[in-house]
Amino acid sequence: TMQFTERVGRVEPSATLAISNLASELEADGVDVVDLSVGEPDFPTPENVVEAGKDALDAGHTGYTPSNGIPGLKEAIAEKLDSDGLAYTTDEIIVTPGGKQALYETFQTLVDDGDEVVLLDPAWVSYEAMAKLAGGELSRIDLSGSGFQLEPVLDDLAATVSDDTEVLVINSPSNPSGAVFTDAALEGVRDLAVEHDVTVISDEIYDAVTYGVEQTSLGSLEGMGDRTVTINGFSKAYSMTGWRLGYLAAPEALVEQAAKLHSHSVSCAANFVQHAGIEALESTDEAVAEMRDAFEDRRDMLVELFGEHGIDVPVPDGAFYMMLPVDDDDQAWCEGAIEEAHVATVPGSAFGTPGYARLSYAASEDRLREAVDRLADAGYL
Ligand code: PLP
Repeated sequence: TMQFTERVGRVEPSATLAISNLASELEADGVDVVDLSVGEPDFPTPENVVEAGKDALDAGHTGYTPSNGIPGLKEAIAEKLDSDGLAYTTDEIIVTPGGKQALYETFQTLVDDGDEVVLLDPAWVSYEAMAKLAGGELSRIDLSGSGFQLEPVLDDLAATVSDDTEVLVINSPSNPSGAVFTDAALEGVRDLAVEHDVTVISDEIYDAVTYGVEQTSLGSLEGMGDRTVTINGFSKAYSMTGWRLGYLAAPEALVEQAAKLHSHSVSCAANFVQHAGIEALESTDEAVAEMRDAFEDRRDMLVELFGEHGIDVPVPDGAFYMMLPVDDDDQAWCEGAIEEAHVATVPGSAFGTPGYARLSYAASEDRLREAVDRLADAGYL
């Protein structure tokens, strides 16, 4: 029989799997499920980006590209980062098939067996898996008592981060809470990172989706340029989940190391997709703003609807998720909600924060209204 590695045994399948399996079973039985468990925008990819992809195919951009990405895309990425106050050259960028691959390469490059990785809970599920695959030991800070904000619990972070800490992961706007961290919080992170010589992975994949607050890029803070790995991608901002395109930007020394993993694993991101990425960065301001506005309207509507049922949801300032306070046994709540109300959500415990269900509002206002009605009718609100 086959013997599997201890390494792969360290991780569990994505916790959202149980929910999506339940949803699929119900749908196969002809049940209409309102699926609020998914992490992808419900909009089509902007038309001009699709056209740019098609044009690239027609123009014969179907071969390998330079491993770290085509020059034109790296230049467009460097310009985008520059507009966020981040001074990266094209030699400090690796274009990847999705932000996930960028994160994976970063963890593999920075984390050795036994190295401490600090996560802020609730944290996106894959950070834990990637840290463990690299051999990291996790320390976790709970943000659920502070409305998911980091600033009020900077003391907890200070008590955890030490000279033994290798990596701290920041994700603002956050999946799953939608929190956008304040500048004071990010400055607190900077002070600790500098004091203890910690590298910070700043996952800014939701940076295009904020509501009336400014998202500061961590690497733009003084002292952070040479200790930040900036992660971003095209999935969320441009509704390009299936195209698989993202990137990491980091000091050249890290890029040189990560580039080895990159070239020996994925070789490069898909050629025509990279060409479409240039168009996305250069010519989609309007489409991005429209999606953002739609998400904001839905957020407002949901906050109001839950309020009518006497539930105060922590109001997210970004991304397209919110954390609904539910029973302590959030796993049971979510299973019940899908079986009885036919509304799919993800248990907060999957993100390290029991007592909540994560809702994605990447769904139409009608469907969101329907979801709240169903949850209320089935006694879940
Ligand atoms: N980071 C966060 C916080 C996410 O929510 C996701 C997707 O769900 C990703 C990274 C990776 O996205 P992709 O690999 O599609 O770029």
